[in-house]
Amino acid sequence: MARNTLARIEPDAVAHNLAVVRRQAPRSRVMAVVKADAYGHRIDLVLPALEAADMLAVATLDEARAIRRLGNRQPVLLLEGVLDSSDLAVAESLGLELTLHHPDQVEMLARYGHAPTPRLWLKVDSGMHRLGVEPARVAELHGRLKALPGVKQVNLVSHFASAEDPDDRLVREQIARFDAAVVGLDGEHCLANSAAILEHPDAHRDWVRAGVLLYGISPLPDRTGPDLDLQPAMSLQAELLAINRVPAGESIGYGARFTAERDLRVGVAGIGYGDGYPRSVADGTPVLVGDKLCRVVGRVSMDMVTLDLAACPEARIGDRVVLWGRGLPVETVADGADTIPYELVCRITRRVRYRAL
Ligand code: PLP
Repeated sequence: MARNTLARIEPDAVAHNLAVVRRQAPRSRVMAVVKADAYGHRIDLVLPALEAADMLAVATLDEARAIRRLGNRQPVLLLEGVLDSSDLAVAESLGLELTLHHPDQVEMLARYGHAPTPRLWLKVDSGMHRLGVEPARVAELHGRLKALPGVKQVNLVSHFASAEDPDDRLVREQIARFDAAVVGLDGEHCLANSAAILEHPDAHRDWVRAGVLLYGISPLPDRTGPDLDLQPAMSLQAELLAINRVPAGESIGYGARFTAERDLRVGVAGIGYGDGYPRSVADGTPVLVGDKLCRVVGRVSMDMVTLDLAACPEARIGDRVVLWGRGLPVETVADGADTIPYELVCRITRRVRYRAL
């Protein structure tokens, strides 16, 4: 029998989550961030659910190409911009809108001779210090972009470093710097990522950029997606390959990290770090067996993970195990793995089959 390790994707959940974003930011248009293959959910499976978004945003030209190959004609913004004139030509042929985040890119565009797209987005570094032009140069560069032949609109965009942080001093500072840098310039504004959509209505402006919320995941440290009326769009599933008795005092798995404190019934599920289930999960991280929460015991290996089945005495070989999804938020697993849920959904590997519900 084939190994039944599966990512089940719910496009209806994505559509629901988009509606939640609209409710949160009712006066803004929504840019749906679908980079990294829709945060690991597969662009081909979620795109139909995002037709109601006002725009899509990707990180790379290849991601944009994948969207066009699917026949999608929605406006697409390239968030990281372009590196050279051949990139510009590709972006133009794909009908992409561009982020300009460095003065060198403005020069490059001027040398290109015409606008590859009538609407450009100038990125302001308001304090994240990753991409963006310094506030003092925004007016000058905005003017130069507006003067390029074929440019109709130059929008202004920035990104928050810590909008999920309950201490909002940096967010306030970033908003203030952005507002000061763009005084008197025309064009629309786009600041808010998912955390700012939830926590900072004053950052909503003309556009919001929603990423992780669309997939039903909370960007806030103390909340899960369901707490926010979001629906998880991915369930990562495997099957029980074996069930064994392990006597008290015996260790389980690589490195003998876990020692059974009593006689245990141990289930072996067919999923491991070779599939994207994180090796870093601690003993005790929950998994769902049927509808019962069981716990990981022992190190995750490449193809398997071992589970204490005490909470699910009725479990049988072949039963479904849910590593995250409905009933078990990926945020909880990320806590157990000392990472963020973004990373977990993005690093599902190619040997996992995907199926849309
Ligand atoms: N905007 C930019 C520039 C990003 O890099 C990202 C994600 O990393 C987002 C928006 C979306 O962030 P989130 O998924 O937290 O909404």
